[in-house]
Amino acid sequence: MSCGHPHAVACVQIHSWMWIYLDDELEPESAHEVVHHLEECPPCADAFSAEIIIRTRIRQSRETVQTPEGLYTRIFTQIQQTISDE
Ligand SMILES: [Zn+2]
Ligand SMILES: [Zn+2]
Repeated sequence: MSCGHPHAVACVQIHSWMWIYLDDELEPESAHEVVHHLEECPPCADAFSAEIIIRTRIRQSRETVQTPEGLYTRIFTQIQQTISDE
């Protein structure tokens, strides 16, 4: 993936840093390179925003999944109470 412009840091390098950057675990110096690169490279900026959208959806779907888990705990507690009542 390339926009055809020369960059101080290659697009391939930026993409290999993407997950680390989004996890907030990239060294500040490299993170600065990422931000600078995204400003001048629309294809990479698009890839990053697509990734952020996917990660947001995954987080939201995890939050939705937690409701049945809570329900399961309630049912399990009720079953335990029923057993101890006998
Ligand atoms: Zn790029
Ligand atoms: Zn580019």
